Amino acid sequence: MNKKIVIGILYILTTLIFLSGCSKELKPVEESSYMLGTYLTIKLWTDHEEEGKEIIKKSFDRIQEIEKKMSVNLEDSEINKINHASGEDFIKVSKDTSEVLKKSLSYAKISRGAFDPTIGKLVQLWGIGTDSERVPSREEIENALKYVNFHRIKEKNDDSFQLQNKGMRLDLGGIAKGYAADEVYKILKEKKIEHAMINLGGNIYAVGNKLDGSSWKIGIQDPLQKTGTHMGYLEVSNQSVVTSGNYERFFVQNNERYHHIIDPHKGYPAKNGVISATIVTDKSMDADALSTATYILGVDEGMKLIESLENVECILVTQSQEVYVSSGLKKKFNIINEKFHLKD
Ligand code: FAD
Ligand code: MG
Repeated sequence: MNKKIVIGILYILTTLIFLSGCSKELKPVEESSYMLGTYLTIKLWTDHEEEGKEIIKKSFDRIQEIEKKMSVNLEDSEINKINHASGEDFIKVSKDTSEVLKKSLSYAKISRGAFDPTIGKLVQLWGIGTDSERVPSREEIENALKYVNFHRIKEKNDDSFQLQNKGMRLDLGGIAKGYAADEVYKILKEKKIEHAMINLGGNIYAVGNKLDGSSWKIGIQDPLQKTGTHMGYLEVSNQSVVTSGNYERFFVQNNERYHHIIDPHKGYPAKNGVISATIVTDKSMDADALSTATYILGVDEGMKLIESLENVECILVTQSQEVYVSSGLKKKFNIINEKFHLKD
């Protein structure tokens, strides 16, 4: 065959292959599950539906693995092994649990104990969200407070940990969902997923951008209204958004709302003016720990902490409907309910 004709055919074939590649349409695949005591949804965009479903299944399997290691609700989790051995032995744990415990300790330090992974005894005493929820007596709280102190966690280089006082109890409910979201993010990235929304019971990771290239718009819950009512929208790309609020797990007694975010210094649900704390950053584990910490610290201390950290932003909403937004987020957050007032 003439050389020119061969080159011509090759050119046409290459163009056809290129065009067929471009026309592959990305479609959403979405699956939900119930784990970590909450509803989980993963939605991703792919040109191969079956593969998309497999990626989500792999993600849910990974979350289940994390839950088995870190749940206080599972008797033989690694966290409960440390709890059962409190005051006695060091327990060697997996890299997963070790990483989350180390991060918990670093957030306990920088929040000066507002975030404290040894909060377990108090969480158990209040029992918020369980059948045994109640307001404990002053004596019971004083007693439980003796077991809450992150300085009494000892670690060795081989990923083993010990709680130094018998009866101390770890609880990673304020951070482990974030770790799980980061692990799902890793799986999606390995599988070359560019557009996805990971939602682990409000622990959100907005992967990449929307299909049309614009930022994701994340609704921020109105803490005074029922779930699904938004007070504002946040624009993000490839970041995690995590909110801690007093409106999901609580009970009311004598007109007082008792919720699940406990002040480790006082032993009571945090009551510092803030009723919702949202953190935006690259790692969902950081966002999770910091949302719990800033909720407890309140506006002044919380904002100071967030402004001292690079690439971490926050939105704090108070009981009096004032909204405080950190410097890097002011252009990306819009209030849609005029009841709420933006403060400088
Ligand atoms: P966050 O503000 O992120 O966390 C509040 C939680 O953190 C509290 O519930 C408490 O666990 C802990 N905490 C409270 N005060 C502090 C403090 N000062 N410092 C540090 N931590 C604090 N729920 C169930 O009902 N059933 C289950 O089987 C179950 N299993 C779980 C397993 C795992 C591995 C995890 C991570 C959570 C599980 N949960 C379970 C808990 C449930 O999902 C919680 O509601 C959730 O962890 C709280 O997250 P949040 O985003 O609402 O609030
Ligand atoms: Mg949290």
